[in-house]
Amino acid sequence: MFDDAVLTPRHPKWPDFCAVLHDRLTTTTGGCDGTFGQARALLKAIGMDVDASLLFYRQHGAGCDCELLMNVEQAVQCEAVRWN
Ligand SMILES: [Zn+2]
Repeated sequence: MFDDAVLTPRHPKWPDFCAVLHDRLTTTTGGCDGTFGQARALLKAIGMDVDASLLFYRQHGAGCDCELLMNVEQAVQCEAVRWN
């Protein structure tokens, strides 16, 4: 089921979200601090369901902002392959 309040790699806002998150981690904040601090703030700013989205990322191999960028999209693609 597609739920537009949960920001997954299938969501239309996902590419922008990743771009901004990557930008914040690499330029603004000096890197990931081991939490979802930046992701949480961004999700809130664009009106997503923060807790449901973070739960989704944890279920797809991410425990913090940088792991979100590295792992979630790949994990979802792997699932897509298995489903086909
Ligand atoms: Zn990290």
